[in-house]
Amino acid sequence: MTENRRLVLARRPVGVVQDDDFEMLVEPVPEAGAGQFLIRNCWLSFDPAQRGWMNDVPSYIPPVQLGEPMRAMGVGQIVASHHPDFPEGAMVSGGFGWQDYVLSDGKDAFGVRVLPPGAPPTAALGVFGTTGLTAYFGLLDVGRPKEGDVVLVSGAAGATGSVVGQIAKIKGCQTIGIAGGPDKCTWLKDTVGFDEVIDYKNEDVAARIRELAPKGVNVFFDNIGGEILDAGLGNIAQGGTIVLCGGISSGYTLEEQPPGPRNVFMLTVRSARMEGFIVLNYAQRFGEGIAQLAEWVTEGKIIYAEDIQHGLENAPATLRRLFEGKNFGKQILEIAQPEG
Ligand code: NAP
Repeated sequence: MTENRRLVLARRPVGVVQDDDFEMLVEPVPEAGAGQFLIRNCWLSFDPAQRGWMNDVPSYIPPVQLGEPMRAMGVGQIVASHHPDFPEGAMVSGGFGWQDYVLSDGKDAFGVRVLPPGAPPTAALGVFGTTGLTAYFGLLDVGRPKEGDVVLVSGAAGATGSVVGQIAKIKGCQTIGIAGGPDKCTWLKDTVGFDEVIDYKNEDVAARIRELAPKGVNVFFDNIGGEILDAGLGNIAQGGTIVLCGGISSGYTLEEQPPGPRNVFMLTVRSARMEGFIVLNYAQRFGEGIAQLAEWVTEGKIIYAEDIQHGLENAPATLRRLFEGKNFGKQILEIAQPEG
């Protein structure tokens, strides 16, 4: 390959991302200079936060600039190297973006990691990547559940939520998952091992939480916001905790802000707390999280699903899948296969 396709942000999306918010540039493959290595991007991670990064507003990370390849985590193979710690042929993960090839010096905002040989490389984007680590630190550090607690998880069939539920089970909690549609709910109960499930598309969420957790929810790990956050707030237990992980129901657009929670006074009534976090806060402890998650996966205590789409040109459509609930497990896009 001599060409490097780069899918750059051409304009700031309004509402849902459109294909023509991006432009495909075709450029020569760059050459690695001193201290650099060249990565052939193979799999890209899709994360709801990417939609927020396209908005020109202050956030925990600067917005993607117009004309830049869309920011994304990726896994790729080193095809040329002038860096002793990153040998040719190694598989690496990092913030590689929507492009076929990327030069690196081993440092980026997300950290560039050499993957252990033998482990499935795509797992570095999901269960051993941002979503698995978000589940691990968000539940254990922010939610801090105790054995016997009722743990409610929204977005439960997603990459983050499904791991949260399994960690909660490992910690001896009773788990209730909220997801959209019978297929995802059946998978959560029969395969992932949630104790109870609520299909928010077909059931009254607040009434079902009340029924399943009559004494209230001790820890609510919320990935959704809006009405579902309100339903959890209304059912929080005495001294309970709401972990504000995400608010995907807003679409992360600037145009449609979700309604404020009506039940926020329940935090007062139940002496409860609500706390947000960003997984990057835990960057110094990622090694600890990955090691523990790897042990649980090896022991069969955590299973995970991946939803793999194909072709760099399909990146905008693949991102939309997250907001349409079409992804079943961690959303990934394959753009090449590693050699060897
Ligand atoms: P995911 O859960 O694998 O996929 C997103 C899921 O959200 C969809 O499959 C869909 O599931 C659900 N959804 C989409 N629109 C919805 C709506 N309007 N109402 C209800 N559900 C909706 O994605 P993920 O990467 O694991 O991310 C999950 C959440 O965690 C997101 O909110 C994300 O922003 C957040 N997050 C936060 C951090 C952090 O550092 N705080 C890090 C990573 C992720 P259904 O089919 O069940 O509707």
